[in-house]
Formats: sequence, C-alpha cells, structure tokens
Amino acid sequence: MSISTRNIDHHIAGAPAANTSGRTQDVTNPATGAVTGKVGLADAAQVGAAVAAAQAAFPAWADTPPIRRARVMFKFLELLNQHKDELAHLITAEHGKVFTDAQGEVSRGIDIVEFACGIPQLLKGDFTDQVSTGIDNWTLRQPLGVVAGITPFNFPVMVPMWMFPVAIAAGNTFVLKPSPTDPSPSLLMAELLKKAGLPDGVFNVVQGDKAAVDALLEHPDVKAVSFVGSTPIANYIYETGARHGKRVQALGGAKNHMVVMPDADIDQAVDALIGAGYGSAGERCMAISVAVLVGDVADRLLPKLIERTKTLKVLNGENLAAEMGPIVTRAAHERITGYIAQGEKEGAKLLVDGRSFDGNKAGEGCGDGFWMGGTLFDHVTPEMRIYKEEIFGPVLGCLRVATFKEAVDLINAHEFGNGVSCFTRDGNVAREFGRRIQVGMVGINVPIPVPMAWHGFGGWKKSLFGDMHAYGEEGVRFYTKQKSIMQRWPESIGKGAEFVMPTAK
Ligand code: NAD
Repeated sequence: MSISTRNIDHHIAGAPAANTSGRTQDVTNPATGAVTGKVGLADAAQVGAAVAAAQAAFPAWADTPPIRRARVMFKFLELLNQHKDELAHLITAEHGKVFTDAQGEVSRGIDIVEFACGIPQLLKGDFTDQVSTGIDNWTLRQPLGVVAGITPFNFPVMVPMWMFPVAIAAGNTFVLKPSPTDPSPSLLMAELLKKAGLPDGVFNVVQGDKAAVDALLEHPDVKAVSFVGSTPIANYIYETGARHGKRVQALGGAKNHMVVMPDADIDQAVDALIGAGYGSAGERCMAISVAVLVGDVADRLLPKLIERTKTLKVLNGENLAAEMGPIVTRAAHERITGYIAQGEKEGAKLLVDGRSFDGNKAGEGCGDGFWMGGTLFDHVTPEMRIYKEEIFGPVLGCLRVATFKEAVDLINAHEFGNGVSCFTRDGNVAREFGRRIQVGMVGINVPIPVPMAWHGFGGWKKSLFGDMHAYGEEGVRFYTKQKSIMQRWPESIGKGAEFVMPTAK
C-alpha cells in the first residue's frame, strides 16, 4: 500500500488494531490538499474492546507502586525526546502548522510528562497522628479506573499529553479518542509508551467521530472524561458524561483579548499581536483574536500592524522560514472566509484581506492547499458576530476603547474566558488587571499565557465546563479520588457501642 493511501487505525491492548466499523474519513495534507490516508472511525463495539482492554489492565497497574509507574514515564520522556522531530513532522503533515511551532507543541507536551515523573511526591497523602486518643487519620488518593480523553485537531500531541501522562502515572488506564483530522501522532505516542515498558491495555487509542465519543460517554466502565474542543461539544460532553455518572472536565472555545495601554511599548505589542494572532494560523485556543486598543494607541500601532500582517511569511510548514502555514481543512477555510465576509457586511473596516492569498506562493505543490493570509479588521464593535463568535483562524479584530475600565468591562462581558493579555508599563494597571479580569489565564506583557506543567490549564465561563483544570495538581485531583482512613487498634475498642457523633477524646 502506498503511503498516500495508508490506513490509520486504532491501538488496543498494546497492539495496532484494524478498523472494523467499515467507516473511514479522509486525512489530508492541508498544504497541498492531497489525501494522505484514511482514518478508521470506531463504532461502539470497537470502543468497547478498547475499554475492556483498559479495564483488564487496571487492577495490576493501579497496584504498581507509583515509583515504578514513574520509571515508565521517565523512559517515555527519553523516547519522546528522541522522536520529537518525527512527531513534529507528523503534526505538520496533517495539521499544517509550521514545523518549528510543531516542535514547540511537542515540547509543551513533554513538560507534562516531566511533571508526571514526580507522581510519587504528588500522590503523597496527609497524615494526622492522634486525632483522638489512640486514633490516627490519613488521606490517600486512589486512581479512578478507566478514563477517557477526547481531543481537538489543533494540538494532536500536546493536548492528549495534558491528560494521559498524569492519568496514567496516577494509576488509571486510558482510552484516547483523538481528532480524526490529524490522527497519526496518537499512534506514534502509543508505540513509544509500549517501548517505554507500559503494560498492554494501559493506554489505548480509538480513532473516530461522534459515534466513538458517544460510546465512551455511555460506557459504564469509563469513570472520567477529559475533553478539549469547541464550546458546544464541550457543553454536550459535560452534560452527557455527568448524566452517565462520570467525572467530567470539558475545556471549550475562546475569544482572547489583548489590551494595549497607551504606556505600552508599541513595538513589543505589535510583535505580540502578530505572533499570537497569526501563529498556528490563529488555530490555538489561546490565540489572540481581539486587540483592545486604549486611548490613542490605535493611531500609533495600526500602521505597524498593517505592514507586518501584509508581510507575514505564509509558507508550507515544512519550510523553516515559514511563520504561518495553511488552514487545517477546506471546511475550516470556508468558515473563516465566511466570517471575513460577515465582518465586512457588519461594517468593520477590513485593513488587510487574507482571502486573496495565492497558495502557489506558499511553495511547490501548494496550489490546491487550504491557504489564506493574515486578515486584520479595525472598528470592530461588541455587537458584531466577528467579535462575539470564535473564528479560529488568522483573523485579528481591533476594538477601540477610551479607558482601562472600558477595556476590562468589555472583556468581562464576553461569554468566553479562556486567555487574556494586557500590555502596559504601569505596575498598578497590571495588578488591577490581574485582579479584576474574569478570565482563567492572564498574561501581563505575555500574549499567550499558557500555564506551565505544574500550574494547570483552564479558562472560565464558557471556556470550561467542570471544576478542575487540566494537568498540574488539579489534574492529579481530577484523576484520583480521595479516601480518608481512620484507624484504631484493638486495645481501645472493647468499650461498647458509641451512639453520639465521635468527637476527639
Ligand atoms: P471540536 O469540538 O470539533 O472537536 C473536538 C473533539 O470532539 C474531537 O475529538 C471530535 O472528534 C469530537 N467531536 C466533534 N463533534 C462532535 C459531536 N457532535 N459529538 C461528539 N464529539 C464530537 O473541536 P476542534 O475543531 O477539533 O478543535 C478546535 C476547538 O477546540 C476550538 O473551539 C478551540 O478553541 C478548542 N480548543 C480549546 C482548548 C482549551 O484548552 N480550552 C484547547 C484547544 C482547542
């Protein structure tokens, strides 16, 4: 079989598993538009096989001492570092993002594996000697069982790694359902975990769409679901999972603002907007899609921003000079160009129109790829759909406000609350911004404040359904349940029954 028609299927019980549903979906290289593979779409029976493998592997894995589980993670870490570029090339081939950005994605995933290597320390419980005479009380955290991860197209390596290293290190077994748009990296990760010595069945991959997701949500042996994707689906996952008695964390969409105060360094702000607005073609949940220009900032900043947007290096992601690659699919391309037309109709001023970009300029063979350049709007207003909705593409809208308070009120009124940033040189403004803003992840002179592995990732409002953020200590809490043990030994027991609420004696 030639590489151009390869089948991309599942990984169940430690081995590749051919798709049995008879349903597949094309996988394309967004740079060229060529179909490069067919991904199998699992049905409920195949999902059931993956869950059964995970369930069978659970008792022994949960009983494995945390330090031995950590050793598997250390070995996995070593293998990831060896195969980093291979993973990054797979990402570029199916997602389209530029290779250096894909390497960055893999690195941010590796951070979480490093965090998970510390699991013995993270699982250490609390102990109180002598809570009452002769009685001790302690807490321990135990794994849940089989847990599932459902992930989006935009980070096919990093987002699964927000989940499975922590879940597995904590003693759970895992079923990953990646996005069918870029399914290949998940299988390489499964292979590396096996090479690292992970017992069969502890990590499984089922490729698929809604049918596979619903089978996971309804399966009685799946104890928890971590989801990252768009808000309507996050809401659906949260409600359906909860209705089936599962613990759920569901991270949704975003509309991230960057406030530029009049005292900010304008060149730094322009650099930040260009990178955070158009990096990964704006297909990051932490991408900046709205610039909030305070006071006279617009007049000083926009000429520079227009120039930089027009001269973005939009090239095949494999070209190391590329700053921005193609859009992930033809459907996404159509959605984004539709939003640009909508913005014009709503009366926003189109300063740079990325729709006219010719794919042939992106590199050899790119004529049929899903290309566009960066798009820049000015005079966007809060009533416009291009402001209210997530476009998820290289489209940056500028809003003008008179004061800092207006900027904060505007952002706090938005239904999303994933990331936000404020560029200023005034410490008091920065402090007030951090305290008053109703958003989960805040950057001060940092455009994309993705928290480090030990801090945990999560937005507020419609950007997260559930209580706990991904990875970090919140991740450990999500994938474990707390048990409190109170212990007394025989000498003090023979005193007869006690009918009043036990109190310290
Ligand atoms: P998506 O919601 O379309 O898909 C996410 C996952 O859900 C995929 O695995 C997909 O197969 C599955 N899915 C899709 N439709 C479904 C349905 N009807 N029923 C059940 N499952 C379904 O998201 P996407 O387009 O792959 O990713 C982009 C979105 O993800 C953006 O909205 C982005 O903001 C969001 N995202 C959020 C974060 C975050 O941390 N908050 C991170 C990355 C991406």
